[in-house]
Amino acid sequence: MCKFGCSTANMTFKCKYCSAPFCASCSNGAGGKMRAANVCSSCNKTNHRGDKI
Ligand SMILES: [Zn+2]
Ligand SMILES: [Zn+2]
Repeated sequence: MCKFGCSTANMTFKCKYCSAPFCASCSNGAGGKMRAANVCSSCNKTNHRGDKI
């Protein structure tokens, strides 16, 4: 389980701009559902995928 509720584990990454965690599988992040897979829901920057956490 990812921390946002989907069944995928190990798909949680950190935004490289604001460090908010998000799941690349279900597109939920600390700021809510991401409007696109490459847009941070917290700071709205694109291509935000940082380190896996
Ligand atoms: Zn998820
Ligand atoms: Zn961010």
